[in-house]
Amino acid sequence: MLQIPEETLERMRAARERTGSARHELQDMLKAGGLRPTRQRIALAALLFSTGRHRHVTADDLHRDARADSTALSLATVYNTLNQFADAGLIRKIGMNGERMHFDTDPGDHHHFYVEAEDRVLDVEPGAVCFSALPAAPAGYEIAGVDVVIRLRRSKPEKARNACSGGCARRAGSGGDMPR
Ligand SMILES: [Zn+2]
Repeated sequence: MLQIPEETLERMRAARERTGSARHELQDMLKAGGLRPTRQRIALAALLFSTGRHRHVTADDLHRDARADSTALSLATVYNTLNQFADAGLIRKIGMNGERMHFDTDPGDHHHFYVEAEDRVLDVEPGAVCFSALPAAPAGYEIAGVDVVIRLRRSKPEKARNACSGGCARRAGSGGDMPR
């Protein structure tokens, strides 16, 4: 008889079940979005969603992940699939600059920081952006959502020291170029 403790076997069974159900969940998710669960789509959905954490990726990022995972897909296929996922509402497109589209696995309403020099997208904490006024939508339209992108650059050392020592109260006098 093999000396595998019952406890270990139980854990292996549970892990197998989890993998199975994860794949099943991905298939269900694709179907719910009106997409046929092809092998390519399942493979890319697994790469996008398997960590359980939200991610911001470009087609290049996901293409790199796919290659590292030995999933042979062209960059164009990855890009097209990401767009299909976005059209299906599974992920969200965020245009940070003219050249590259970022995709967000969190399709919910939230705002972003964008580190221009690093082409990096970060989530802004929920509730941290508030508006005192929004323009009325033109006749025949309604506002479907507001996406704020706060562009970041590295602060100069002396500025960084001054900026944070007193919290928000120190802001006074630093502005002057804020839009009204
Ligand atoms: Zn995000």
